[in-house]
Amino acid sequence: MRINDDEFGEVIVKKSSLAKNIKFSISTSGRLQMSVPAYTSAFLAKRFLNSNRKMIREKLPVKDPSEQRARDYQKKVLMKKAKEYLPYRLEYYAKLYGYSFDKCRMSHANTRWGSCSSNRTISLNIGLMKVPEPLRDYVILHELAHLNHMDHSKAFWAEVASHDKNYKLHEKRLKMFNPGV
Ligand SMILES: [Zn+2]
Repeated sequence: MRINDDEFGEVIVKKSSLAKNIKFSISTSGRLQMSVPAYTSAFLAKRFLNSNRKMIREKLPVKDPSEQRARDYQKKVLMKKAKEYLPYRLEYYAKLYGYSFDKCRMSHANTRWGSCSSNRTISLNIGLMKVPEPLRDYVILHELAHLNHMDHSKAFWAEVASHDKNYKLHEKRLKMFNPGV
């Protein structure tokens, strides 16, 4: 459930059968989040929000509603760009170096640029659209190499190096960017 509040913007209301009382927190997107018992109505949640306004203002860093919207918009644009680019780039390199993967997924995790699972699904972070192309390609080649080596062994890095001789530099530069949107 979501509540639109004039002061705090979109408020996420999470119903839980385990919650015994109402708790406020901040979501990863900077929104105010309320955990409430399962039977809580929107009316009751709003009333509780109103009576805790002062405490929230003082204690919780809720993002400005216009900032929340700007971030949502940025994410949408990035997702669109990523979908139009990353799967094709992945396929290009897979063909070039003879890899076969099963699926390509878009992710927007805050901590990782990509991952490769044992069922041959490669996830690529939409935040890759914000980094320079050589770094983006490095992540793709890194995940493709995981199709043959599910670890970071010497053999794995040798395979990465055979496709990207500057991989060490790229790995280092990538740390200057944040995968989160
Ligand atoms: Zn890896």
